[in-house]
Amino acid sequence: MYDVLIIGAGPIGLACGIEAKKAGLEYVIIDKGCLVNSVFNYPLGMTFFSTSEKLEIGGVPFVSHLNKPNRFEALEYYRRVTMNYELNVKLYEEVKTTVKGEDGIFTITTAKGTYTSKAIILATGFYDIPYLMNVPGEDLPKVMHYYKEPHPYIGQKIIVVGAANSAVDVALETYRKGADVTMVVRESGILDTVKYWVRPDIENRIAEKSIKSYFNSQITEIRPYEVDIMTPDGPKTLENDYVMAMTGYKPNFSFMEAMGIEFQDDQFNTPKYNDQTQESNVENIYLAGVVCGGLKTNKWFIENSRVHAEVIIDDLAKKVK
Ligand code: FAD
Repeated sequence: MYDVLIIGAGPIGLACGIEAKKAGLEYVIIDKGCLVNSVFNYPLGMTFFSTSEKLEIGGVPFVSHLNKPNRFEALEYYRRVTMNYELNVKLYEEVKTTVKGEDGIFTITTAKGTYTSKAIILATGFYDIPYLMNVPGEDLPKVMHYYKEPHPYIGQKIIVVGAANSAVDVALETYRKGADVTMVVRESGILDTVKYWVRPDIENRIAEKSIKSYFNSQITEIRPYEVDIMTPDGPKTLENDYVMAMTGYKPNFSFMEAMGIEFQDDQFNTPKYNDQTQESNVENIYLAGVVCGGLKTNKWFIENSRVHAEVIIDDLAKKVK
């Protein structure tokens, strides 16, 4: 019987584990993938927009080569923190169901077994479920919702869908490594949320037509060597080798619903929780990290949600100890 079972070994799940350990609670952190699975799946060459000290957890200094760390440094850092605190982490074990008994105890079933716990912290992030375009051909292998690196795309005709940070980074990086890049964007321009130091680069590449662009436009069908799009000037067919659908990601709402978590009646499907304690509408289920924002996935990030760990354990320790 655990005092608390933490679902998700991302930066915030790990921060919760550290606080639970400091408070002397019996805890376990369970992840369906590797340690910090989302960070592991980021583009290989990505650099964080945060400076390294803003990504620190458990008071462990994060020393990076430059002021903004890259993915490799972040992986190294979170591995070190986990080993330093000897955190109780179980990896490659997906949590399938959680059921609350009449005695208030949770039974958690994973791909490998069953656990019981007095409380649960849900720190499952948002990076597992991409937004689909729901167009014919989206299931072709040339369509990607996750991007790793530019090398395979030299000399290839690429369509990048979207106009937020990920789309802009992919368009610029593949263009600079020799791809023929076209952006297809539903909105009328590059989004305001794009990093201010990147915006002039993408806008200038579009203005000089090094990167082609169709704004107020959407893909309507994808075929092995062509893509149909609808533009303000009518339908067009583009020659195409790869589609990078950088259309964003969303939390696993059905998993949350099955736990009994309710959502606010807003456009973002924000889960209901007490912002003083992070406790959801289900007693002893707490929400931590980016999952708290629902569809507003740019509301919470590591920088501003790592504090959830202390808030939650303060409240929870009083109840379960
Ligand atoms: P995650 O890191 O997503 O962790 C969730 C974990 O839950 C995952 O490991 C997943 O495998 C696991 N999981 C999900 N479902 C289950 C299940 N059923 N059973 C078991 N395990 C499960 N934030 C910043 O503060 N600064 C930045 O510079 C920054 N840059 C970013 C760049 C990119 C490209 C992206 C995509 C995000 C960036 N973010 C940044 C946001 C930040 O990385 C995420 O907010 C961060 O990963 C959130 O941490 P988390 O612990 O809440 O969730």
